[in-house]
Amino acid sequence: MLDRYVNLLESGEVVAFPTETVYGLGADAKNPDAIQKVFDIKGRPADNPLIVHISDPNQVKYFASEISDDAHKLMNAFWPGPLTLIFKKKPQVLDVITAGLDTVALRWPKHPLSQELLALSGPLVAPSANSSGKPSPTKAEHVKEDFGEDFPVVDAGETEIGLESTVLDISSEPYTIYRPGAVSSDAIKKIIGKDVRQDKDSSKNETAKSPGTKYSHYAPEAKVRWISSSGTTFVDDALYLLHSRPVPRKNSRVIHYEGDFNNMAHELYDRFRHADHQQLEYVFVEPFSKEQLQNPIVQALQNRISKAVS
Ligand code: AMP
Ligand code: MG
Repeated sequence: MLDRYVNLLESGEVVAFPTETVYGLGADAKNPDAIQKVFDIKGRPADNPLIVHISDPNQVKYFASEISDDAHKLMNAFWPGPLTLIFKKKPQVLDVITAGLDTVALRWPKHPLSQELLALSGPLVAPSANSSGKPSPTKAEHVKEDFGEDFPVVDAGETEIGLESTVLDISSEPYTIYRPGAVSSDAIKKIIGKDVRQDKDSSKNETAKSPGTKYSHYAPEAKVRWISSSGTTFVDDALYLLHSRPVPRKNSRVIHYEGDFNNMAHELYDRFRHADHQQLEYVFVEPFSKEQLQNPIVQALQNRISKAVS
């Protein structure tokens, strides 16, 4: 079933495929022309490096110059899964992947189809399979919306998590999380017994060590706003995403997650895209409490929604 896609990848074409986080736009990690196509198709700035996806931890040593004990512990604990690790790179890793940095980002995804594809194709670079600036795709239809009906997508329905991987830099200490995701800093600390920094302000920092974090991602055309604590007046041309406070009546524009934050993460980008289809002016989101922010997926939601707001 995957033959056609593997053939395309081998001939230097790009193919979208599902992971457990979002759909990725795959290209052969050893073919610079194929990788350039990823940047062209997405309209992605050349200084935003790509994550290399692998299907076997033995492939790490082709890309990483040094694999520490902590790296082994983290790979054992969280791979395959939604954790991207940043290593010092080997000289043979293409500059087009790393945007000229001396580090490389690696992930072994968990989705069975991504594993099958990667086992046949070898390592693939794979940013999210959306036009730059659009919300990441969580369904094959989202990819086709951005890149056209005939675009090659391995279709596996909806992705499970719905938000991008945690990105952790272990190339130098202290280790830094550039992007929160389903794997939490607490879970990471537990495995390595070391503190991990959260890179809070990289979006404002031009020399950010993770260049991608300075670009505005994740946002729909509609303006995204936090609901103020003083109460809500419901307006017509808006979508409301609530999770805890009571609502007068639910309807197709007032979604209540009833504390199910995994489902909120799973659906967020689809809701954003849907708001744009309906040409809504606003998406209003209920803010999260301190207690709710203990939950890693709520931290990831907070990060993506804050970026969409700013
Ligand atoms: P995505 O567009 O979802 O694939 O995002 C990948 C993220 O990983 C972006 O924020 C990139 O800036 C970040 N990233 C990839 N490679 C590196 C690297 N070598 N150093 C720092 N951040 C990286
Ligand atoms: Mg992306």
